[in-house]
Amino acid sequence: AVRAVGVHKAFGSLHVLKGVDMTVMPGSVTVILGPSGSGKSTFLRLINQLETLTGGRIEVNGEMIGYRYVERRGRRMLQTLDDRAVAAQREKLGMVFQRFNLFPHMTALENVMEAPVHVQGMRRAEARQLAIAELERVGLGGRLDHYPAQLSGGQQQRVAIARALAMKPSIMLFDEPTSALDPELVGEVLGVMRSLADEGMTMIVVTHEIGFAREVADQVVFMDGGVVVEQGGPEIIAHPSAPRFREFLAHVL
Ligand code: ATP
Ligand code: MG
Repeated sequence: AVRAVGVHKAFGSLHVLKGVDMTVMPGSVTVILGPSGSGKSTFLRLINQLETLTGGRIEVNGEMIGYRYVERRGRRMLQTLDDRAVAAQREKLGMVFQRFNLFPHMTALENVMEAPVHVQGMRRAEARQLAIAELERVGLGGRLDHYPAQLSGGQQQRVAIARALAMKPSIMLFDEPTSALDPELVGEVLGVMRSLADEGMTMIVVTHEIGFAREVADQVVFMDGGVVVEQGGPEIIAHPSAPRFREFLAHVL
């Protein structure tokens, strides 16, 4: 589960997130919608500790990220976690970006084996079996030895998903995973995400794919200007109440 409470983020004088609250239940899918610049990516990056909070807190599986409480002279104080503790927390999260960021000089199989071997210290033989299983899970069992340049954009993005899954995350974060794809390749990636959701993966997905939101999301969150303007079940897409959400939907539908 993920719980964000009063999350603020500023870059210098630019106040990007202005008090975001969000709860993502285990095994559920949350889709975040919102116009460009509303702070969606920043929010995901905060959850994954690629950025640091300006205010508020985020809990992942009940554990506050980035900080812990310590007693000092009878006072409870927040202490920043060390790199090792942060890395341990980050391992629970898988993240997939708009751009696939695969290693170009490695095959699909090697890309997926990389983190288990170099981050977790898994033996190569074991990592290989794991990577094969994850690539089969995303429908690429027949492309193990292909290099990224030999794969379509949709296939590359599926390798990126397999690579994240190989770390056995309990939560998957997707930041516009299909935005960089040719239209005919979008469906295969959304299909993999849908099957992950069916398997019970906890997911937070930033996307403009309204159909996916309507059909797969348990919770839909509309952000604008660094705040959550409206949230609810997928039915809010058909019946938005906030004027800004209505306007946004009119543009993307
Ligand atoms: P998009 O739909 O275009 O991806 P978004 O909702 O993901 O937009 P963010 O990428 O979170 O929006 O950006 C929100 C605001 O924060 C933007 O004004 C952006 O320019 C700014 N911003 C993001 N990252 C940084 C940074 N590292 N330094 C300064 N400003 C930043
Ligand atoms: Mg973004």
